[in-house]
Amino acid sequence: MTNLTKYLHQQMDKEAGIQHTHHRTKIVATVGPACDTYEKLLDLVRAGVNVFRLNFSHGSHEDKAQIIEHIRNINSTEPYNIAILGDLQGPKLRVGEIENNYLPLAIGDILTFTNTKCIGNLEKIYVSYPNLADDVKVGNIIMIDDGKIEVKVVDITKEKDVKVQVTLGGVLSSKKGINLPDTKISLPALTEKDLIDLEFIIEQKLDWVALSFVRSVKDIVILRNKLDEKKSKTKIIAKIEKPEALVNIRDIILESDAIMIARGDLGVELPVEQVPLIQRELIRKCIHRAKPVIVATQMMESMIDRTKPNRSEITDVANAVLEGADAVMLSGETAAGNHPTLVVETMCKIIRQVEQTEYRYNREEDLKPLSHSPSFLSDAVCYNACKISKDLNANALVGMTQSGYTAFMLSSYRPESPVYIFTKERSLVNQLSLSWGVRAFFYNEEESLDNIVTDQINILKQRGFLQTGDVVVNTGSTPIHLHLPTNVIKVTKVD
Ligand code: PEP
Repeated sequence: MTNLTKYLHQQMDKEAGIQHTHHRTKIVATVGPACDTYEKLLDLVRAGVNVFRLNFSHGSHEDKAQIIEHIRNINSTEPYNIAILGDLQGPKLRVGEIENNYLPLAIGDILTFTNTKCIGNLEKIYVSYPNLADDVKVGNIIMIDDGKIEVKVVDITKEKDVKVQVTLGGVLSSKKGINLPDTKISLPALTEKDLIDLEFIIEQKLDWVALSFVRSVKDIVILRNKLDEKKSKTKIIAKIEKPEALVNIRDIILESDAIMIARGDLGVELPVEQVPLIQRELIRKCIHRAKPVIVATQMMESMIDRTKPNRSEITDVANAVLEGADAVMLSGETAAGNHPTLVVETMCKIIRQVEQTEYRYNREEDLKPLSHSPSFLSDAVCYNACKISKDLNANALVGMTQSGYTAFMLSSYRPESPVYIFTKERSLVNQLSLSWGVRAFFYNEEESLDNIVTDQINILKQRGFLQTGDVVVNTGSTPIHLHLPTNVIKVTKVD
């Protein structure tokens, strides 16, 4: 039998059970008017959502507080640990209001961008960026409305107006976004609006905060300091959507807690044909550094209106899973679409289909822990725990963590055995919902390691994840009261 025939037979055998299988690549869904009630959010969770994203580019804090309450109610009354991610707008530039919300632009038209508020027309258009005239140079390209319209700077006046010539025409409407792919923008990483939103995110104790338009590691450090000042446990996601970020990517990955490949703006700021390979490379780099990575934007876009995705969208989701992404994200599909639950169900089916095959992502075997890393010893324990779990075809790989590190590390090997993480850090229980394959449990017993291992296996048995005869690989650390990095591997046959 060829590999492909074997694969097709396996698929037919598995078809019946597929609905009940846990998907290991996580799903992030953006909340909006299409899904913001308790019942609709619960439907999405039941369909497979692991993380809800609140987009701070839209809506009020009042509305968000209500949504947060719904999600927390779901977590407390249903068997889920859904994480909440607050996505800051960042230095997103926009045009102002446009006369009649309709301004056709033809190639060759000359327009004037001004920082003085006005209703836009062919004469003048307001741009929400006071430094535009200082930052751009003659010849720079300005993209409007996700690159649907393109203009080129032809003059910068003494009055600080920027004259541009249309190079790609289209119809301009109010508040459309602007991208400056070849200009270094001097706006701060956190705008005034972001600072207000960040305060809300900290007060509400959201699990993750995403920083938009990250340019350098300094942007992450600024956000980290703000969180530390308030003793916040919220973890940071760097959204990669600027060419500058790619130049500084190693340091950005190291300083962030996770990465989002924000393909929407990335595909405007860079030639769009470069995005697939950038995605592949970013996923690889994040897996190597044990940092969760999300693939975002237009994954199931056609399902905003339709009940079935395009074939290309199915392949896009499947490819992100094959490349080893921790999570795939839905934006307008769940926030404003006509079929939010169906989209999640469909995405979930695609993920499970790929994960159940021999084609699922396998981290390269030769990716051994780095001997010069400060965490080399515990990395080596995690690496070998994953290897042992594979050799034994273990039914569970169990880790303990206080910082999250062991969980991210075990997950980064994308092991075939299900990963269960026990932590006494309450905030981590939900945060780990973003991490590939991880199921986390709150656990704060600190007796001997022997007792803890027995206890954790019993908990998993009671919950139906293990049964008598199963093989479990536990990691932990001793002496238990010293809370050292992971330094023990134990193998158990369940009684
Ligand atoms: C993106 O640009 O792909 C993205 C996720 O950012 P936003 O939706 O905030 O524009």
